[in-house]
Amino acid sequence: MPPKVTRLLLYALLLVVTTFVLRFEGRDWWCACGQIRFWDGDIWSSHCSQHLLDPYTFTHVLHGVALFLIGLWLVPKMTFLWRLWWATFLECLWEILENSPWVIERYRAVTVSLGYEGDTVVNAMGDILACVAGFALANWLGLRRSVILFVVIELILLVTIRDNLTLNVLMLVCPIEAIKEWQIAL
Ligand SMILES: [Zn+2]
Repeated sequence: MPPKVTRLLLYALLLVVTTFVLRFEGRDWWCACGQIRFWDGDIWSSHCSQHLLDPYTFTHVLHGVALFLIGLWLVPKMTFLWRLWWATFLECLWEILENSPWVIERYRAVTVSLGYEGDTVVNAMGDILACVAGFALANWLGLRRSVILFVVIELILLVTIRDNLTLNVLMLVCPIEAIKEWQIAL
């Protein structure tokens, strides 16, 4: 088989397996409202994390940026496309974990995502796509500008939705009540 076809099949495999596991975990294909929207900007509505893109999509762009930088540091000799495949693999793994009953329960219990019921398959695919976009963007920008981009996106999210990748991980692992109260007051 030509290498290009093999590679495409390997990517397809990731998406198919991820979709299968998400369905197995009980996630819906798309939003319960019945529509598939390109964007939903309200993080407090029941449509959040249910349509293709929403403010949290940007945290997945940051996954891509971070995975690019970590990959460059850990395995600099690996080809770009293989590093991208491994990054996509890790992002799929994250989506599967993020949508496991245990993590969903934890989000609801300790973070600001009180009504979180997990992503839909459509939203998870949007997240994975965002990660790939972030990875490609970081490759194009280079190290320094990628770091700047990372910080800028985190700050914009902090100001607009009072949540970002750093807070998301922090609040999931080691929740701080004062931060949660500040986030809810938005
Ligand atoms: Zn909806």
